[in-house]
Amino acid sequence: MTEEIKKLKDIVEHTDNIVFFGGAGVSTESGIPDFRSVDGLYHQQWDEPPETILSHTYYMRYPEKFFRFYRSKLLCPDAQPNAAHRKLAEWEAQGKLRAVITQNIDGLHQKAGSREVLELHGSTLRNYCEQCGRFYSLADIMAMDGVPRCACGGRIKPDVVLYEEGLDSTTLTRAVEFIANADVLIIAGTSLAVYPAAGLIRYFGGSKLVVINKTPLRGDLGADLVITGAVGETLAQL
Ligand code: ZN
Repeated sequence: MTEEIKKLKDIVEHTDNIVFFGGAGVSTESGIPDFRSVDGLYHQQWDEPPETILSHTYYMRYPEKFFRFYRSKLLCPDAQPNAAHRKLAEWEAQGKLRAVITQNIDGLHQKAGSREVLELHGSTLRNYCEQCGRFYSLADIMAMDGVPRCACGGRIKPDVVLYEEGLDSTTLTRAVEFIANADVLIIAGTSLAVYPAAGLIRYFGGSKLVVINKTPLRGDLGADLVITGAVGETLAQL
C-alpha cells in the first residue's frame, strides 16, 4: 500500500460525510469508453466529432445517424460495476458517503447498490416518447432498430443531456448542496473539462479534497491528496 492510499484510508476512516464526484474514468474499468481520454472517442475516426453528433441540433436534424452512433458508442448494456462502484455503494451503506454525483450515463452506480446518485448528464437507462411521454427501458431500446419509436408513433428520446441542452436544475441544485455540505470531496476519473464540473467544485468548503485520476489534472485545485491511478484499482485497495 502506497503512502497516498494510506492517507486516503485515514481520511475515509475519520469521516461520515463523503461526497464523490465522478467522471468517465470511473466507468472505463467497466469497459465503457472515455470520450476525452487519449484512446477515447475523440481520437476515433468519424465523419463528425462526437460533440457534433451528440448535439441537440444533430439529433433533431439527423436522428438516424444520431442513433447509429448512440447505439454503437454509448449503449453498453452488458457493462458491470467495477471495484469503484462497489466501494462507493459499500461506503454509503456504512453511513460514510452521502452522495455520488456522476457525469456518467450508464447507471452502474445504481447497479452496484448506490442509492443517492445524482446523474448530471442523465441516463441511457431511461427513455421517453417525445409525443406521449411513455417510458421505455434500455432493453426496450435495444430491441428496436434504428430510431426508436413509441407505440403511438412518437420518437423515443434517451434521457441523456445532449450538447446544447441544459442540465436538470433540480439535480444541479442538489449536487451543489451535497458538495457545499460535504466534509470530504473525492473527485475521480474526470479531467474537470466538462461543464459544470469545474464550477461545482468551487462550492466545496469541507476539510479534505481528494483527486484520483489516471493522468495529473491541469491547474491547481488545492487538493489535500492527489492519487494518480485508475479509480477502481485505487478504491479496491481500501
Ligand atoms: Zn408515445
